[in-house]
Amino acid sequence: MDGTQLRTCGRCGGRYDWRRSTSSSLKMTYCGVLCERGALGFTLDTLLAGVRVLPLEWKALFAV
Ligand SMILES: [Zn+2]
Repeated sequence: MDGTQLRTCGRCGGRYDWRRSTSSSLKMTYCGVLCERGALGFTLDTLLAGVRVLPLEWKALFAV
């Protein structure tokens, strides 16, 4: 173990193993979803969920 998995939480300053973070989108930044939400006021998950349904024109662009 070389400790490279250990990160310092961007909110609470705690040391954590990013692989164990409950934050799904910002594992490398926050120790958990509570800190992510506390720091941002929301989670990226909820944000991304809002745009998960792409306009059909966008899908055409990505498919090329
Ligand atoms: Zn934290």
